[in-house]
Amino acid sequence: MAVLITDSCINCDACIEECPATAIVSGSESPLSDGEYTYVKPEKCIECVDSAVPKCADVCPTEGCIVWDMPYTPEYNDHFVQSGEYVIRVHKSKGLMSPEVSPMPWRESISMEQREARVSVGETLKLYN
Ligand code: SF4
Ligand code: SF4
Repeated sequence: MAVLITDSCINCDACIEECPATAIVSGSESPLSDGEYTYVKPEKCIECVDSAVPKCADVCPTEGCIVWDMPYTPEYNDHFVQSGEYVIRVHKSKGLMSPEVSPMPWRESISMEQREARVSVGETLKLYN
């Protein structure tokens, strides 16, 4: 990761089409057993590193709904693999697509403190007025 969609999501699904990594699915397709909200797959999220701002947060109508989580890197393997907030995909041949197996790009401009605090993506990148 990654970014995380919180329970202030209104399930408008506007973010799904915007994601360049096809990392977002609607609540009905969430891999979480109790998934109610649109869900970001951290094993696919690239934090939109090639764009000025993350596309999902840019279109989201709900201020503060999408927050930062830790980088999807081996240092944070347990954070993602052992979390009840995520269900990581199991690839047919590669197995669990964990941060150790398949690390993803992340924005170094967002600090670990901001990530641990789950600061709003829109707030850090000044998407709001
Ligand atoms: S930050 Fe970018 S890659 Fe990650 S879920 Fe949002 S739109 Fe997709
Ligand atoms: S755009 Fe925002 S409110 Fe709409 S589904 Fe995505 S995260 Fe939820």
